[in-house]
Amino acid sequence: MSMSSSPLSSSAGTAPRVVSFEVARHLVEKHAAGVCPGDLETVDLLAGLGRVLAEGIVADRDFPPFDRATRDGYAVLAADLVEVPARLEVVGEVKAGDWPEAKSCSVGRGQAVGIMTGAPLPAGADAVVMVEHTATLGRDTLGGKFVEVQRGVHAGENFVPRGAEARAGQLLLDRGRWLDHAGVAIAASVGKSQVQVFRKPRVAVLSTGDEVVEIDAMLAPAQIRNSNSYSLAAQVVNVGGEAVRLAIAPDSPGRLRALIEEGFECDLLLLTGGVSMGKYDLVEQVLGELQAEFYFTGAEIQPGRPVVFGSCGKKYFFGLPGNPVSTMVTFELFARPMIEALAGMTPRPLVFVSARLKSEIRTKTGLKRFLPAVLAGEFEDAEVELARWQGSGDIAALAQANCYVVVPPDRERMEAGELVSLLMR
Ligand code: AMP
Ligand code: MG
Repeated sequence: MSMSSSPLSSSAGTAPRVVSFEVARHLVEKHAAGVCPGDLETVDLLAGLGRVLAEGIVADRDFPPFDRATRDGYAVLAADLVEVPARLEVVGEVKAGDWPEAKSCSVGRGQAVGIMTGAPLPAGADAVVMVEHTATLGRDTLGGKFVEVQRGVHAGENFVPRGAEARAGQLLLDRGRWLDHAGVAIAASVGKSQVQVFRKPRVAVLSTGDEVVEIDAMLAPAQIRNSNSYSLAAQVVNVGGEAVRLAIAPDSPGRLRALIEEGFECDLLLLTGGVSMGKYDLVEQVLGELQAEFYFTGAEIQPGRPVVFGSCGKKYFFGLPGNPVSTMVTFELFARPMIEALAGMTPRPLVFVSARLKSEIRTKTGLKRFLPAVLAGEFEDAEVELARWQGSGDIAALAQANCYVVVPPDRERMEAGELVSLLMR
């Protein structure tokens, strides 16, 4: 089994290091670029959906494999239709699946061959005229069948030439590509009933906190159900990893340390909680005792400012803040690219879209904010509005949101009607 390669060495030690969002993201991307994905597996094509290709998918023949009609109508010579209406003799018919033999089914001057969408263009023809622009004329006295064409066509119209979409041997899907339904269609069309994919990275999820309990436990008044473990597991699965949910770590160093060590048996460790400034926030202390190296111990963002990224031996870890919204946002911004890299994926940049703001936003300057919001409205009328939330613990508000409005650190006010950047959820 190939393990992730050693984390890059860095000048970062254990001293606190709070960086801008961009620096934090680039640090993760730099380290992610150096990891090796796991072994290869061969799976049935549909089992490959949502997996990362470990092989390139190549065209096994030209696409299309023949000049393919894109309309029902008549294969013709465009030169016969310079003047319309024109009367052409119908000398044959090809339907999808037929192979027009040049001897019995070819188009000469003054001739046409009936053709259906998906059928190969017969020899001699250089265009297809749509059936909507024709009228059948019946037979002449010698039994010949005729069609009247009412509109001209250009050579090349209404068919796709052989090989125009791809040439035999051409790479259609790269290794490292996430296989989605379009990729499945391509693999199917080149006859791949099985595909090679990378093993899913195993991602340990470790929640910390004395107040946090299993979701099916009887609750004491001040206890909180361990929702982070589940939201993180779901996010891990969504980006192509396998989640390994560990037991809840109390805010005491001994047990926390044992569970962290268990987590390092996986390819990546995600911790939640215990990274803020509180007296019982012990995650960094315990990782420090394990000789961890910290690349950053905070990012100038909200939610999620206390986020931590580092490595310990050969394994990377993220310490995500325990507030459920912070956990989800920091996963998306930082943990995701690392998991994708461990899954063998070619790195993808964060994509922001823009939309008009429905009502003004007021914040304080200094942090880049990712505020849960709802993008709604049809077509060009779409507008975005902040979800009404009570802060980083408000999962109810987050569940209503479908995106985050990105507020730059130097803005304290964004006007209604302004175009703002969104990170879709
Ligand atoms: P912390 O980051 O440990 O200071 O926790 C911040 C807030 O998130 C506190 O209100 C915690 O109770 C809450 N929290 C921490 N861990 C979890 C968890 N696993 N599931 C749900 N809420 C949590
Ligand atoms: Mg805590």
